[in-house]
Amino acid sequence: MRDSWGRTIEYVRISLTDACNFCCPYCRPQEITPSSQIHLLHPHEWMIILEAFHRLGVKAVRLTGGEPLLYPHLDELLQRINETQWFEDISMTTNGSYLGDRAKTLQQLGLNRVNISLDSIDPDMFDVCVGKPNQLNSVLRGIEASLAAGFKQVKINTVLSRYWSDEEVRTLFEYIDAWAVIWRFIEYMPFQGDAFHGPTFDEWRAQLERVCGEPLQSVDHVYGFGPATYYRLPSGKDIGFIFSMSHNYCDTCNRLRLTSDGHMRLCLLRDDESNLINLVRNGITVDELVRHIELTVQLKKQEHDGIDMDQPERPMWRIGG
Ligand code: SAM
Ligand code: SF4
Repeated sequence: MRDSWGRTIEYVRISLTDACNFCCPYCRPQEITPSSQIHLLHPHEWMIILEAFHRLGVKAVRLTGGEPLLYPHLDELLQRINETQWFEDISMTTNGSYLGDRAKTLQQLGLNRVNISLDSIDPDMFDVCVGKPNQLNSVLRGIEASLAAGFKQVKINTVLSRYWSDEEVRTLFEYIDAWAVIWRFIEYMPFQGDAFHGPTFDEWRAQLERVCGEPLQSVDHVYGFGPATYYRLPSGKDIGFIFSMSHNYCDTCNRLRLTSDGHMRLCLLRDDESNLINLVRNGITVDELVRHIELTVQLKKQEHDGIDMDQPERPMWRIGG
């Protein structure tokens, strides 16, 4: 499927639930009991929507949230998606805290790749980053279980919502070298206004180069369907940068988002949405849904407004990052 700017749309990110056990201050600052948790889509409803996307040429799906492991029908949905063989790739973005017990089962049900969020390796700083005490161990256990489970790929996502000391960066390099993961750094997006300030693309690159003592070599290789640009560390490890505010990737945008209340969102950073689940619950056929999605996608804007953007009405935890 192509949008009106000639971009091929081949990737869909599905937020399964907006419930979460963490309160990362840049995403979901308070403990919120989501009202829509009782209105979650059932696997058979997701399958109708996913069949439409498959017919439109979508190749990859990513399950996210909120915390996708809190979606009560996760195993059934994963199994059903996998059985259809509609998609080349099924991946997940998770905070990792429940993966210790679930990683192997998810891999066996057909999950190919997993991205785990980890904003600090220091226990006290980590608790600040997720808004709750004593959480780092569960996530480290989730990372270990994922590395042992046989996924095609494990990535770590680190949001830079603050400046790091060089000492922290030195420790970070030790973990990057020790773990068989692709580590990616994500610029803070102002879903909570201008409450957070982290390094820009150039500042982060300069700090990494200062600490490792030589320039980072850029790498052509792309790991997955995302917009990251990759650099090679002197150790030979590749790391990814996703700096959507100070670098705009909109010209290569290949994705749509589905929210846990069944809306299709055309852009992470704009509030243009279409309520697909209403159509499904009113008996739309898959053919009609295909047509509806195709037409709606033509409304996708060329780009977001960068740092001048208005704060989106839907917070990050209700969109799925
Ligand atoms: N709970 C899961 C997790 O934390 O990985 C999945 C949902 S979370 C919304 C998806 C990703 O969005 C995470 O990597 C998170 O760090 C990122 N994220 C959340 N709020 C953000 C913000 N304001 N700016 C940049 N990234 C953000
Ligand atoms: Fe929850 Fe993920 Fe948002 Fe953190 S970033 S509050 S783990 S949804």
